[in-house]
Amino acid sequence: MCLPGANKMKFSTKAIHAGNEPDPTTGAVNVPIYATSTYSNEAFGVSKGFDYGRTINPTRVALEKNIAALENGKYGFAFSSGMGATHAIATMLEKGDHVIVSQNVYGGTYRIFERIFRKMGLDFSWIDTSSYDEIGAALKPNTKMIFVETPTNPMLTLTDLDMISDIARVNKLISVCDNTFMSPYFQNPLDLGIDIVVHSTTKYINGHSDAIGGFAATSNDAIAEQLKFIQNSVGAVPSPFDCYLVLRSTKTLALRMEQHNANAVKIANILEKDYKDKISRVYYPGLESHPQHELAKKQMRGFGGMISIDLGSFDNAVKFFDGLKIFARAESLGGVESLVCHPVSMTHASIPREEREKFGLTDGLVRLSVGCEDYEDLLADIRQALGGGK
Ligand SMILES: *Cc1c(COP(=O)(O)O)cnc(C)c1O
Repeated sequence: MCLPGANKMKFSTKAIHAGNEPDPTTGAVNVPIYATSTYSNEAFGVSKGFDYGRTINPTRVALEKNIAALENGKYGFAFSSGMGATHAIATMLEKGDHVIVSQNVYGGTYRIFERIFRKMGLDFSWIDTSSYDEIGAALKPNTKMIFVETPTNPMLTLTDLDMISDIARVNKLISVCDNTFMSPYFQNPLDLGIDIVVHSTTKYINGHSDAIGGFAATSNDAIAEQLKFIQNSVGAVPSPFDCYLVLRSTKTLALRMEQHNANAVKIANILEKDYKDKISRVYYPGLESHPQHELAKKQMRGFGGMISIDLGSFDNAVKFFDGLKIFARAESLGGVESLVCHPVSMTHASIPREEREKFGLTDGLVRLSVGCEDYEDLLADIRQALGGGK
């Protein structure tokens, strides 16, 4: 890490300082946006360690040190999108390899595995990774990786990361966790023995809905070497400007996550208590009614800002969706502004009905990304969209 002992500092100190040394030329407190595609050599064979912009960029290096420190990882790699990061991870595998994947992951993860990597000879089993028995039954002699998302999108189902890292160790699998929903502020998969943590930095880490980005962190030397090679060979790297935006944003990640979490805890409790007639189920890991609430308390330090509610039918979902005034009707999540999404017709439209209904992703399900606004205003908006009252 760039700072001696950076991994021993507390979260907000790392968020503000790791990778963010004052610029050596001017003392500027912010890392400059190094808009350069190449670097000149002082003389034949004499460089400052920088050769070409796809391979290395100082703004990107700062961001990589920063998020790696937040995930307590030795190495970090920034990508041009979350899917770029997932692509790099799957590219470590070879034709004939098998991967076990959580069944209700981000829709784009399903799409890239089934529609792109399957064509190239990888095999995938989509199972409930919260179940030890289902993982055991899915293991094959050629299984090389287990890829989990916890909590999942949009059902907010948890997978026990301690269990996954144990299974991976015993069976010599690479374990991967998509930590986008919790952000490194609430969950650190590497600390629980997971080999690679992956993020869509587009969501909470950047948090201002103004950049697309991805990240992979690991403490495993051999995996880091492969990811570095793939990042440079494939070239799905973020621009220096996007690196700057994300690096600026991580400085307030702790503050934002606290507000997302506090708002969502209050809203989820009220929705569950006051709207039994209109909402058949509230999915939120911070609710005592969540079947994995104990696990949530054990492996996460908060519950995040994502809530899913089942309004019983497609028509009810559309009415609520169109009735909201503060929540923007949009895909994505994790920004300071609240968003509402209808997964079946938006983010998860590429998943066949029979696949999605198996895990409760119904036509009536609506997903809320609770932002950092004042919670009273958000609640009033939800109440009026549900048809007033209360
Ligand atoms: C958005 C998202 C991704 C994909 O990231 P992009 O930055 O959109 O490419 C992957 N996983 C999860 C959980 C996401 O929410």
